Amino acid sequence: MVKLLKCEGASYAYPGGTPAVDGASLSVEQGRFVCIIGPNGAGKSTLLKGMAGLLPLDRGDVTVDGVAVSGLGSKARARTLALVPQFLDAIPPLTVASFVMGGRYGHLDSWRRADMSDYEAVGAALKAAHVEELGERLLGELSGGQRQRVLIARALAQEAGYLLVDEPTSSLDPEHQLGVFNLLRELARSGRGVCVVTHDLNLASQFADEVALMRAGSFAAMGCPTELLTPEVLEPVYGAHFRFASWGAGDGEERPVVVPWAAQ
Ligand code: ADP
Repeated sequence: MVKLLKCEGASYAYPGGTPAVDGASLSVEQGRFVCIIGPNGAGKSTLLKGMAGLLPLDRGDVTVDGVAVSGLGSKARARTLALVPQFLDAIPPLTVASFVMGGRYGHLDSWRRADMSDYEAVGAALKAAHVEELGERLLGELSGGQRQRVLIARALAQEAGYLLVDEPTSSLDPEHQLGVFNLLRELARSGRGVCVVTHDLNLASQFADEVALMRAGSFAAMGCPTELLTPEVLEPVYGAHFRFASWGAGDGEERPVVVPWAAQ
């Protein structure tokens, strides 16, 4: 059986609001790197929370390897899928290492305290997210970009099969943007299902196996970057003008390069 995180006909309206997500369907297979793109307010973050089981959908189903996410307890869910939020609502007064150890929540219990395997998982997660040297620093002392990578490390410490990541590069410099997307692609190549919301069409172009374009709560189009990142697909949805080119991605394939450009 193909292992996948599958969302079918998901709909969700915030209390008193119109549907933020309205009949969205998406599958993320293990081993695949999927990028969700789309204009502000399209429902991308809400869908990610719904897929992570953090919002009770009004309609639709989310299953992981055939099991309903809504039926999983919080610990089983934490071992199955990890959500990396865009930012923390409040920054806890913790060191980076303690915060990342919080990612082991799904593996610990009142009768199983952190042991060597948990410290090893935390060490490996800090290393993979390139924040090893920050372990003893307080979260509140970090730059936005460092904190972003620590959020990814915490999700990696969960050792979940699926990663849902909300705009991981919005506060990163170009080197770290590439570093984070490289890391996420490596994680997909090593067998996880990775789904990332991004506004960076060119990172999606270079790294994604599949791009899914969201508009007004559902998907307007899905496909490989070459099929999807075209004027015909993007311009009606974003209502913006773009310049398009194409460059080699180092794997023998040409990938689209997309630059927003003022209409003339
Ligand atoms: P995106 O991630 O694509 O920018 P969001 O999922 O954040 O879109 O938002 C989709 C819609 O839901 C928007 O209209 C937004 O105003 C609304 N929304 C998002 N979060 C909340 C919330 N906590 N309460 C009420 N409405 C919200």
